Amino acid sequence: MENLSLENFIKGIPKAELHLHIEGTFEPELMFEIAERNNTKIDYSSVEELKSAYNFNNLQEFLNIYYTGAKVLQKEEDFYDLTWAYFLKAKEDNIIHTEIMFDPQTHTERGIPFDVVINGISKAQEKAKLELGITSKLIMSFLRHLDQNSAFEVYKNYEKHKEKIDAVGLDSSEVGNPPILFSQIFSKAKNDGLKITVHAGEEGPPEYVWQALDILNVHRIDHGNRSLEDVNLINRIAQQQIALTVCPLSNLKLKVVRDLKEHPLKKMLDLGIKVTVNSDDPAYFGGYINENFLATAKAINLTKEDIYKLIKNSFDASFVCDSHKKQMFERLEKYYSKTNFIYK
Ligand SMILES: [Zn+2]
Repeated sequence: MENLSLENFIKGIPKAELHLHIEGTFEPELMFEIAERNNTKIDYSSVEELKSAYNFNNLQEFLNIYYTGAKVLQKEEDFYDLTWAYFLKAKEDNIIHTEIMFDPQTHTERGIPFDVVINGISKAQEKAKLELGITSKLIMSFLRHLDQNSAFEVYKNYEKHKEKIDAVGLDSSEVGNPPILFSQIFSKAKNDGLKITVHAGEEGPPEYVWQALDILNVHRIDHGNRSLEDVNLINRIAQQQIALTVCPLSNLKLKVVRDLKEHPLKKMLDLGIKVTVNSDDPAYFGGYINENFLATAKAINLTKEDIYKLIKNSFDASFVCDSHKKQMFERLEKYYSKTNFIYK
């Protein structure tokens, strides 16, 4: 048995990421580089000034900056560069499979064609599979601060890009925009055979999680923290093994939790919930997936078994076929049986 530091144990363990917004991986350096080559202006004068604005009191304050940053993206190569930069980071973190969300409306609403967005992302996905050995799925997410008609409008592109899109999601400002408002578009997507994953219970009440389950018929819940306020809901999620894609550093940055020591991840595991660890919008929240694991492990003393379980959950809750899951489980087992860590 090889004994590693916690950091190296986390670094080496093969893992999957299930909650990641590609626009949220936009690092300030790349943002300035792309802005310059496209002759676009950013509202901030330097990388440092932009970074210092990454101080949020809630989801909406973050979203305002996030949408400003996304405006820089205009050409197919911009979307390709953004996605490729994430894959390189994913390789460093030993991610072997990732399920990426993108927000087409953030771009189509400002006149960027859907094809430009998806083709750029998709080319990076293909290259990552060939050159980095990282598989991926793509989740087309609807912005809930826009209405269902707008979601239907963007959904018209699905037919043309069927092979590239695996699932649909729902994100952006949660409070006041409950899942029920989007029941028809998700019903349509379900009929088309797409998987469904919806942000619920991050800032919104448990009622939104119920709606996601009962009305949108989701396969996964993104975040879901506030489910813990409703014991019947916890039981339902645990019994049906609905995965929650939890994002600890995001929760900290957006003040969903005051301190990582108070993070409910361990409690969720103990309740038998299929919980996973993810980075959400890592460029804005101070850490990619390994940093999320490391900071949380230190804060709430995750054991080797906890880390193993969290990663196994993410393979299990992924949208890949059973034989692909089996391959990932085997890689995890191999590492787990040979490697240990010590808290220092
Ligand atoms: Zn998210």
